[in-house]
Amino acid sequence: MIELDKIFIRRDNNKVFFCATIKIDHIVQELWFSTDKKFEKYIALTNGDCFALALFIYAIFTNKSFICNVPVSKRLKYGLIHVLLNTFIKNGVCSKELTIDFKFEDETTFPDATGIGTAMSLGVDSFYTLSKNIESSHAVNILTLFNGGAYGEYGGDVARDLFEKMKQHVSNLSEDFGLDFLWVDTNLNEVLKMPFVKTHTFRNFACVLMFQKLFKTYYYASGTTLDNFKLNFNDPMYYDLLNSKAIAGNSLEFHISGLNEGRLFKTQVISEHPLTFNNLNVCLITSDNEKLSKNNKKLINCSKCFKCIRTMVTLEVLGKLHLYKNVFDLNVYKENKEKYLAEILYNKIRANNIFSQEILGQIKLNKYHISYKVYYYLFLRVLQPLGKRINNSKNLKY
Ligand SMILES: [Zn+2]
Repeated sequence: MIELDKIFIRRDNNKVFFCATIKIDHIVQELWFSTDKKFEKYIALTNGDCFALALFIYAIFTNKSFICNVPVSKRLKYGLIHVLLNTFIKNGVCSKELTIDFKFEDETTFPDATGIGTAMSLGVDSFYTLSKNIESSHAVNILTLFNGGAYGEYGGDVARDLFEKMKQHVSNLSEDFGLDFLWVDTNLNEVLKMPFVKTHTFRNFACVLMFQKLFKTYYYASGTTLDNFKLNFNDPMYYDLLNSKAIAGNSLEFHISGLNEGRLFKTQVISEHPLTFNNLNVCLITSDNEKLSKNNKKLINCSKCFKCIRTMVTLEVLGKLHLYKNVFDLNVYKENKEKYLAEILYNKIRANNIFSQEILGQIKLNKYHISYKVYYYLFLRVLQPLGKRINNSKNLKY
């Protein structure tokens, strides 16, 4: 059983904390979201939507009942109960006996909220969403950065350290773009300990819901294209169109941006913008950049993880990799280029990976030469799982 009992504000130097007293299986805990105190005036105190959404999704995936004793926006309540809960139950994600009880409704609207925000994680999707929406009729005027699990799904010091470093970086970048910058830290990673990939949309939307006196629109970058829409509950990117319909405040709506464009196209678009040359950061949290976070003030991609490999190969095929010499280690790329291309080919053969498909399509289009060395490494890569299987069967004791 999960209960949300009380919401309140706490201040600490230049930060403000929006806090909630919650109970999980009768154990009292405090959940909080914090931000710079200059944004306190935008926190909607008439409802506990940010907590309600985080706890709702925790309830669904842990199959625990949830009683919400603080008001929730009428619009959010409708979307969570009548759209998402029904979908989750119908597809067997949680039991139909599960009780989700939002006891009080908040009907407040916020006509003065005019902010249009989007996340800036310095990745391909973020830069693409920004470039697409900065000049639209609904132009972005606020960039956001949330410590909602992207820097470590269970939070902790390493995640917060990386987040702090990103904060400085995104704050500078916002100035370059002439946009406002809003950051949110939270302890929901540590308290709820949910897997990030399965819950990323809900965590990020929760951070936005805290500011219903600021935002009227929030763009969330699509992680895949619309033709991949499916109710795959291991990753909300597949059903974000549904999430963006269900989750809203009384005056706030979410849009999924870039639903029809593939990653290669997005990479091509952002590579036309010089501000991405020294700022693109696609790297996974790896042991390599853990070291970077402690010893190095600059944000540099490890140039070794699969996200780095995918992006570097794409930029190389597009003839743009040299422009990103300050954020990727081009020596590492040079030494491993054939292996990286072999990895892309392998992912196409093994899993028909959509990103590999796009890269290989562009390779064909550009008549990009693939050397024999690449096929040699591909051959070794194909044998790798086989070798592992043989080793494992040798180790079996009969
Ligand atoms: Zn990396």
